[in-house]
Amino acid sequence: MKQSSRFDSDYLVIGGGIAGLMFALQASEVGTVTVLTKADSAEANTSYAQGGIASVWSVDDSFESHIEDTLNAGAGLCDRNAVETIVREGPATVRELIRLGTQFSRIEAGGEDEYDLGREGGHSHRRVLHAQDLTGREIMRALGEAAAARENIRVLENHVAVNPLIKKDRTTGKPKSCWGVYALDRNTNRVVKIVTRATMLATGGAGKVYLYTTNPDIASGDGVAMAYRAGAPIGNMEFIQFHPTCLYHPAAKSFLISEALRGEGAILRLPDGTPFMKKYDAAAELAPRDIVARAIDAEMKRLGLDNVYLDLSHKPADFIRNRFPNIYAKCLSFGIDMTKQPIPVVPAAHYMCGGVMTDLNARTPIERLYAAGEVAMTGLHGANRLASNSLLEAAVMGHRGAVSAHREIEDSPDGTVPDFAEWETGRAIKSEERVMVTQSWDEIRRMMWNYVGIVRSDRRLARAKSRLALLNEEIHSYYWDYLLDSDLIELRNLVNVAELIVSSASMRKESRGLNYNLDHPDRDDAHWLHPTVITRS
Ligand SMILES: Cc1cc2nc3c(=O)[nH]c(=O)nc-3n(C[C@H](O)[C@H](O)[C@H](O)COP(=O)(O)OP(=O)(O)OC[C@H]3O[C@@H](n4cnc5c(N)ncnc54)[C@H](O)[C@@H]3O)c2cc1C
Repeated sequence: MKQSSRFDSDYLVIGGGIAGLMFALQASEVGTVTVLTKADSAEANTSYAQGGIASVWSVDDSFESHIEDTLNAGAGLCDRNAVETIVREGPATVRELIRLGTQFSRIEAGGEDEYDLGREGGHSHRRVLHAQDLTGREIMRALGEAAAARENIRVLENHVAVNPLIKKDRTTGKPKSCWGVYALDRNTNRVVKIVTRATMLATGGAGKVYLYTTNPDIASGDGVAMAYRAGAPIGNMEFIQFHPTCLYHPAAKSFLISEALRGEGAILRLPDGTPFMKKYDAAAELAPRDIVARAIDAEMKRLGLDNVYLDLSHKPADFIRNRFPNIYAKCLSFGIDMTKQPIPVVPAAHYMCGGVMTDLNARTPIERLYAAGEVAMTGLHGANRLASNSLLEAAVMGHRGAVSAHREIEDSPDGTVPDFAEWETGRAIKSEERVMVTQSWDEIRRMMWNYVGIVRSDRRLARAKSRLALLNEEIHSYYWDYLLDSDLIELRNLVNVAELIVSSASMRKESRGLNYNLDHPDRDDAHWLHPTVITRS
């Protein structure tokens, strides 16, 4: 690979999901790119996306309608400019995904072969392109193969970014620019320094901050925590989306039952078969996710249930097997035949609507530091994400970020590249003491689930805040004493992200979108029609 003289590569992308790979593919047109993934490159939230990617596609749909649906879901907090930009760039971005090799499902309709458009909760039209119920895996296959074919993209798997390389302003002491990252190479257990002209954070979400989540293990909020520690503003972290329907089975680890089932007519039922969604919303099963998740939570609490049921068994068995082969096979592997019986489900933490605040060019206020995808907050989602808008946002913003990073590094000369010290390795500590790491992990995730979950209150938040402050202090007291490994890196990030969620939720004295607080049950437009923003002082 051609290297630029003073840099390990021109561009660094931390994360190899849809946002990171869209950035990398675009940036590789003009420079060399290094992509870091903390585990094997297939481990990303993107790989698990089932439902699909939303975009205006059919003639009876319109941008205005997609914009309206997104604004409705966002409950007054979307940035209209972000919504318009991302929605309007949808079709071109989907065409780019197709050009790069993604094969979305097709259907024969009226003698024509066309893309099969799914419909999901909150959407007023069928506009979700999907690859059966394995959309994310198909996108990752196509983008991964496209990236592998470019000789100026190198992917370093098992490299965990620890901290960005930040240059401070000499006069103000504030963070000024970013020149790459320290990353732990898990193959050698050494921390390497990667120096680049522009850095894109595309580290995905933070589901692992909760005990129950649909997210894979990589989703520990590393990008948000790194950006926060570096001094970038973090917005709207109180808005965590809980997916209403995760498979409830002791042996199933975080398996999501897609919203698309409800789009195809699946009904939520109590154990005795009674449907209950009409009680909560006129749109019943097609109500936005927060309403469905809260309804399930309320029914479970009211009746002391461990789970409720999602039933599609009234549809033809062939249709179910064909439309949902992955979910069908997974359920069957646990002895549940969804063509004949309802699926046991519970809600689980699913998507982080807030994140590192960026403009519509994926820029953070720190020069040369960009963010895109689930880690970022553009203003598209507001207080709640519309289903299947996240793959769209990640793809659009990954691409836009690369275009703007190129423009900016061409426009501003690199000047003197700061000299960053090598990472100082911590001391090894007796292995039995490492139990503290696993204990703290567990404590944070359980506490977040119990106190900062679907339904919150001022007392629960206050309790979580004081517990987290203690944990943060403890983690800090031993962080630099251990030999660094990925568990320790993630633990520090988890506690940072948990504190950001609790602080944001404590600030917002109202209930809106995904933030529901028993002590402030109403929406308060007079005081809260703006994001919560936290910057490290
Ligand atoms: C089960 C499930 C189903 C979903 N279904 C849909 C859907 O149908 N439609 C939709 O629009 N959205 C869906 N979503 C959400 C969507 O998949 C994600 O929001 C989106 O894929 C995020 O993409 P991303 O590129 O931002 O991050 P990811 O795809 O999560 O990629 C993150 C990358 O960052 C890397 N990384 C993280 N931390 C570090 C670190 N410290 N150092 C180095 N690398 C790091 C990871 O290794 C990974 O490569 C779903 C999510 C889940 C979990």
